[in-house]
Amino acid sequence: MSDKRRDLIDKFAYLLLALTIFLFVVLVVNNPVLSGFFEDIENKSFDYRQTLLVKSRHLNPSKDIVIITIDDASYEYILNKYGEWPVPRKIYADMLNFLEKQNPRAVIFDLMFINSKNSTTLNDNFLTSELNKYDNVYAAINFDNQLPDVRKPEDLPDRISVNVDNNSQNVDIKGKMSFLNCRSILDKLMTGRVNVGMVNVKRSNDGIIRQVPTFVCYKDKYYPYLSLKAGADILSNNDIKDFVIDKKSDLIIADKKIPLTNSGEAILNWYGSARSTYQNVPFYKVLEDMKQNVSGFDYKDKIIYVGTTAVSLYDAKSVPVDRVYPGVEIHATYLNNMLDNSFIKKSGPAMNTAIITLIILLISLIVIKSNSVVLSSILVLFSGIVYYLITYYSMKCCNYWVILVLPLIVMVFTFAISYLAKYLIKSRDFEHQYKLATTDGLTELYNHRYFQDMMKQQIEQSKRYNSKFSLIMIDIDYFKQFNDKYGHQAGDAVLKQVAQILKRNTRVSDYVCRYGGEEMAIILPNTGIEETLKNAERIRKAVEETPFKLSLNQEGQVTISLGISSYNGDEETAQDIIKRADNALYKAKENGRNQVVS
Ligand code: GH3
Ligand code: MG
Ligand code: MG
Repeated sequence: MSDKRRDLIDKFAYLLLALTIFLFVVLVVNNPVLSGFFEDIENKSFDYRQTLLVKSRHLNPSKDIVIITIDDASYEYILNKYGEWPVPRKIYADMLNFLEKQNPRAVIFDLMFINSKNSTTLNDNFLTSELNKYDNVYAAINFDNQLPDVRKPEDLPDRISVNVDNNSQNVDIKGKMSFLNCRSILDKLMTGRVNVGMVNVKRSNDGIIRQVPTFVCYKDKYYPYLSLKAGADILSNNDIKDFVIDKKSDLIIADKKIPLTNSGEAILNWYGSARSTYQNVPFYKVLEDMKQNVSGFDYKDKIIYVGTTAVSLYDAKSVPVDRVYPGVEIHATYLNNMLDNSFIKKSGPAMNTAIITLIILLISLIVIKSNSVVLSSILVLFSGIVYYLITYYSMKCCNYWVILVLPLIVMVFTFAISYLAKYLIKSRDFEHQYKLATTDGLTELYNHRYFQDMMKQQIEQSKRYNSKFSLIMIDIDYFKQFNDKYGHQAGDAVLKQVAQILKRNTRVSDYVCRYGGEEMAIILPNTGIEETLKNAERIRKAVEETPFKLSLNQEGQVTISLGISSYNGDEETAQDIIKRADNALYKAKENGRNQVVS
């Protein structure tokens, strides 16, 4: 094989290598089972990074947010005092009036005031009339896909829907976040002044909440998430009805941006685990304060969430940083992300393709350029660690979720494939070098050096195993004349064809060599003189009977003389055996050529 051809094959091999890796990536990305599997692990790696970041306190929870929490102590207190759960609705109304006296920024109920047998109409009416007194109060509503024969899908008042101007090609809220039914709240809350936002959440495959909707679609109208509505009002000092999603899939609110996923959800950036995130005031303490009419907490300008955290009432969800996390703190986290513009943006397909291409290039370059397995392994390991640090710090500093798992897998995969390719190419080059060093270019027989080595080896083996071997020396008759008559090129052609005849008429275990010039030699391991004689005669006959092609339209005849010797005991050297075969060959020439002499 020529160097040029080998070079071409090398290039082809590298191309194939790159293609294989790309095919692997495309397969992973497009296969729903595989991509789901990788997405699950990627999500876990996100949780891991978030947990580390939370431990390093990368974000500080807002001092403006306070949660009035119906915790276990409050639940006990309520049961003792009112003998029932939920609390009579009048209590919430009283509490709201108490809080509003201190001018909070907003009061957000993560509670659904649905029609309930436990509550009297009187209580309900008192609650709705008090809630509707203020325009900084927010109540929750929830959408679901209950069948219409279970609950009639209600028409919701226009005032609680919002307009969404979606300029993004990727965000599809209608297609991915539409609901068929709604668990509606007290009529008078719907029609009054109180703000209403939905509290739907969606879990990932593994049951963990990482992203929260911004809007859901119901009967062709959009409804905002409770914290989004409150946050937008707070950020713009206004009652916001119109929302804009720009071409880059960011939801724009005042000077802040919420990067959205394809289903229009926001990926939350966490501040802490459940027990350490936000300022908490137990519900019962507020009830006590109300009795004394003095507040133990300064609620002025605070954003107050009211929700449950009691284990017995648990509205508990799993989030990346905690397996048991109160729903109300998820809402608070959303609003906190809005206030400090810290939602997570996940790297998209273009970025991911660029990363994976770069990694394939880097790793295959390391493997190809490096001569040591240890060094290249260390370099690849190092690249993996550096890549991990990049993903960690881009999340810490830029709130940017760079995919981690697929690139790391591609790294290992590329490393393995590149090594395989490198090994194959190397072993092929070695074979080529070996062939160059041991064979003759014209006849492709073994060369003189190989012949000498083999003779020595055969003697060693014969001594050790007490076996025998034979040697045939061959010389073309009157070859000088042949050359003179037909030219050197015709002579070369004959040499090649004689070599082929020799190969065809010997066993694979025999060594056919070019001794020099037009002399050839065959070593026959484990073969005695009788058998060798027969073999030599067959070869002689074959050459004699072959019409040799000299050129396109010319044929010629040659004969050969053969001398044979056999290894016959301890003290013989390679030279002794060659000498005897040579003598026999000389005799064959003397006796008239075209014959075998032993
Ligand atoms: P004989 O062996 O029968 O006594 O006669 P001969 O003419 O073959 O004698 P000799 O061994 O002296 O000549 C060998 C010739 O073989 C000399 C050279 O021209 C030719 N020869 C040796 N190597 C090559 C080769 O590689 N190509 C060609 N074309 N000829 C070669
Ligand atoms: Mg000769
Ligand atoms: Mg000769």
